[in-house]
Amino acid sequence: MRSEYHIENCRHQLPRLIDTIDSAIAAIRPAIEDAKLGHESRHGFRALFKFDGAKDYVVDMLLAIATLRPKRALEPWPLQPTPPQFACANKNSRNIYPFLDDHDPWQICQFSAFAAFYAPDTSYIFLCPRFFFYPVVSQDMTGRNCPGVLANQWTPNERNLYEYQTYILIHEMVHFYLQTHSLSGVTIPPEQYGLDGCVALNPLNSLHNPTSYQAYIAMVQQGCVQAPDPTRPPYHVPDGHVSTVPGLNITYMDEQIAQNGTDFLSTDENSSTAASVATA
Ligand SMILES: [Zn+2]
Repeated sequence: MRSEYHIENCRHQLPRLIDTIDSAIAAIRPAIEDAKLGHESRHGFRALFKFDGAKDYVVDMLLAIATLRPKRALEPWPLQPTPPQFACANKNSRNIYPFLDDHDPWQICQFSAFAAFYAPDTSYIFLCPRFFFYPVVSQDMTGRNCPGVLANQWTPNERNLYEYQTYILIHEMVHFYLQTHSLSGVTIPPEQYGLDGCVALNPLNSLHNPTSYQAYIAMVQQGCVQAPDPTRPPYHVPDGHVSTVPGLNITYMDEQIAQNGTDFLSTDENSSTAASVATA
């Protein structure tokens, strides 16, 4: 069952955005089945998530997105579990969303390269005007947009694979579910947006990097099968052990927050700081 979500201030883009959210959920369904295979996946699971034991965490993340699973302790309704909400940024957003404090979505859209961004500690994903200039989803599912592999690295046409509205929404929803676990501009290592950067991340950081999920879902949906081996040069990521995966799944984390009334995720070593403005 999918939770109810809201789309705000999107005017004539509203029907298109509803379709795009539907297309994102449709794209995730086959990825859930593929992720259950772990290392047996033919669509880049090992390159992007490194080891078989990551599959439970990845499946739980994909299920959370596909059902728009509500989360607690988020503004502006901290006491109420809330699914992701979608809002188109405009000149008046700062007045409409006073809980963003000094962060003005319109300014963020104007002065960054973001197509969309998740506002930390809130339920809101903001869509910038440039989001709507991206194509909704690849119309070519024959694998023509799949990156190749040369010298154990992906060829640089990679963004043709995953820069679509559908997959960008998925990226922002991963930020929503990871909260402070997410890699960002202020973490070490920083968030990785390119495929080679995703492969070079260690197993734990891979689970905390939204583009890793975004690219994986695109790989599955478009039937891509070529991927580098993360244990070989130039990557050298060692084969992980189960103990390096976060022991908590996303549902459990929410239960802890509900019980303790605190966001214990902020103790994570990969925490971004409260100063992070926006995560795109
Ligand atoms: Zn991001």
